[in-house]
Amino acid sequence: MSGPVGARGYLGDLVAMSRAYGSDPALVVAGGGNSSVKLGDHLLVKASGAAMASVTAGDFVDLDRRALRALLAQDLPEGRDEREAAFMEALMAARASPGQPRPSVESLLHHLVPGLFVVHLHATAVNQFACSRDGQRLVEEHLGTEVAWAPLVDPGFVLARVVQEKLRAFSSRAGHRPRALVLQNHGLVVSGESPEELDSHLRWLLSSLRDIAVAEGRRQGASRPRATARPPGLALTALAGEVRGLLGRLLGGEGGPPAEVSFDASEPVVGLLARPDGRDLALGGPLTPDQVVYCQSFPLWVEPPEGAAGEVLGRLAPAVATYASTYHVVPKVVLVRGLGMFTAGATAGQAEAARLVYLDAIKVMEGAEQLGGINFLDDDFRSFIERWEVEAYRRRRQA
Ligand SMILES: [Zn+2]
Repeated sequence: MSGPVGARGYLGDLVAMSRAYGSDPALVVAGGGNSSVKLGDHLLVKASGAAMASVTAGDFVDLDRRALRALLAQDLPEGRDEREAAFMEALMAARASPGQPRPSVESLLHHLVPGLFVVHLHATAVNQFACSRDGQRLVEEHLGTEVAWAPLVDPGFVLARVVQEKLRAFSSRAGHRPRALVLQNHGLVVSGESPEELDSHLRWLLSSLRDIAVAEGRRQGASRPRATARPPGLALTALAGEVRGLLGRLLGGEGGPPAEVSFDASEPVVGLLARPDGRDLALGGPLTPDQVVYCQSFPLWVEPPEGAAGEVLGRLAPAVATYASTYHVVPKVVLVRGLGMFTAGATAGQAEAARLVYLDAIKVMEGAEQLGGINFLDDDFRSFIERWEVEAYRRRRQA
């Protein structure tokens, strides 16, 4: 890239760091997360939609921080849709050169979090707190002198404004910058003057939260026994194969090719399906914006009669039809009690992304239960993300 002097070394560090974090499913899955480095008045930030695991130097957008500073101080329209449109336009205009890809919607957040290197991740261990009812209290009680908490607000412009406020309040209270930031129902942000410093903040956050979670689990007594995943018998394996084929046909585009379908019967999935309240948990709502984007807000839950798993085949078509008429989309995640989880997409990569994101959501729910209960996204926020995603899709198609 042309641009800031000496950028190459920093950019190389940024790419290496992003790929390392992006390859660890406990830190981020699918296209989630983003990263940046500040070079004077330049911010090199990951483009929207590029996966961290496979990111290259060309996936980073060079933004003019003077334009970002001006944007942060600006008053945008009140209405959500008008505000988002104005925000995106200003972000695109902040690019050092046109023709660069669209920068991450969280670019402003990267600009204002102090530290040369900034990484935003959706770590499972952090989201167990970020998506729980007691998460904020526990984080503030135990780590309040080192970690700032940001409440759930619209992503992008509003989140940046709130984070700016929280960082100011934190610094004036603690007299220093926080080691990390936890974003409610979303993830974390860590920064550092070097990749090593950033990594030490991340490791510290993860181990501190693990200690709190262990202590909370102990305080509440022995945890719920978990169903163990046994290797499915031949009959169930054959049935899962049949369900995959049928779902591929049911969830493919009309007159188009069948959908790609992934299957998962790992321990967390089997555990959720075996619970008497599994259906209520699964239909309680999504936990994070990523879950809405990759998995739809709600999975389809199918429950064949006990001991008659084969009956699922006759129930799938009507269940998919009912789902489609309720939500006006086809499901991306289908949970079949007694069998496992099926995830669908137009490509094998999309089906796999939905599987990874939902598997992570199950682990987050499990952890959040031990931390005061699960805090699902509320309906207003959820429908905002749903609409936003439709809008993003439209833009992608137009591009
Ligand atoms: Zn995120």
